[in-house]
Amino acid sequence: MSENTEDSRRKTGVVLGFLEEAEPWQLLSAQFPSKVGGKPAWLSQQDLPSTSELVCEKCQLPALFLLQVYAPIVGFDQSFHRTVYIFCCKTPACYTLNDSRCFKVFRSQLRRKNDFYSYNPPPDEETTNSGDNQHVLSSGVKLCHLCGCAGQEGCSRCHAVTYCSKEHQVIDWKQRHKKECLTKTSSEDQNLFLFPEWELVTEPEELPVTDDKPPDTDSLEQADMTPSDLEENELEAMALHESPDTKVFQKFKECIAIEPHQVLRYCREGCPLWVSSKHVPSKAEIPKCPCGADRIFEFQIMPQLLNSLKVDRPDASIDWGTLVIYTCAASCDQGNKYSPEFIWKQDFSEDRAL
Ligand SMILES: [Zn+2]
Ligand SMILES: [Zn+2]
Ligand SMILES: [Zn+2]
Ligand SMILES: [Zn+2]
Repeated sequence: MSENTEDSRRKTGVVLGFLEEAEPWQLLSAQFPSKVGGKPAWLSQQDLPSTSELVCEKCQLPALFLLQVYAPIVGFDQSFHRTVYIFCCKTPACYTLNDSRCFKVFRSQLRRKNDFYSYNPPPDEETTNSGDNQHVLSSGVKLCHLCGCAGQEGCSRCHAVTYCSKEHQVIDWKQRHKKECLTKTSSEDQNLFLFPEWELVTEPEELPVTDDKPPDTDSLEQADMTPSDLEENELEAMALHESPDTKVFQKFKECIAIEPHQVLRYCREGCPLWVSSKHVPSKAEIPKCPCGADRIFEFQIMPQLLNSLKVDRPDASIDWGTLVIYTCAASCDQGNKYSPEFIWKQDFSEDRAL
């Protein structure tokens, strides 16, 4: 083994995401956060995704905010600020094998000079006006008291809160608003409907350079799945136990073992790290952006994130092998609108899990 010095580590070009605790103000829109759980920190304060755009295509219930990644594209003013949002359904039954219909992805981007934020970077401390109103955006858009998405329908009794849907009003009534509504106080009771909130911090992936060949993430594309390059003495074992799928899964495990707590891998225009050789999309299966540009790989969400979402249930739970996000290669300008992007869920094959 080589020494653990700067020289003995090699950057892969992938940026890894990890969960960290943060002060609530650090996760507000004005700080341009990357975060998991809680309510979305909306970048554009206008033209939010509508309730119907956020509905799970399987059960028709509103999808819930999962995470957002702040990912400006350097050198392009139209994406000076840029955030990609992922929403997912909370109904375990919607998580069928390799089916992505219970997820929604949106991209928002703004020029440096825009209607909502200062031209200069935000202060790195809590300021008196940094507290976003939990119910109404600065633009006047009302937010659902339960989920934080656009919601115009008010509680008919107190008129103090609004909801995106009947379903969320019913859930919130039982969970906490019944109390709030009668006493006319806004309780700061924890909103247990949301996923637990974390900051998503990133750092470049570095692999130790050893005498052995380091895990080669570039070769994890479909093309490289044949056993022909394996050594003679491995062939017999492979005939007995290993399939191309086993090989992909082994590489996946080797690659993430170096940083086992990674919940996200970011590498725009790079390659995803697949968990299986099965159900990998062909180019034709990734729809083009309505602007005409191809969609390209931007980042993937790892199964490790599930451990921090409190979604495990013995009977059925929210689950994935990896979630792969493809976005417009041109990162086209849609004004203040949130542009839908594409997500691909790949599950572990057979009974594999981490
Ligand atoms: Zn659903
Ligand atoms: Zn809602
Ligand atoms: Zn009320
Ligand atoms: Zn586009």
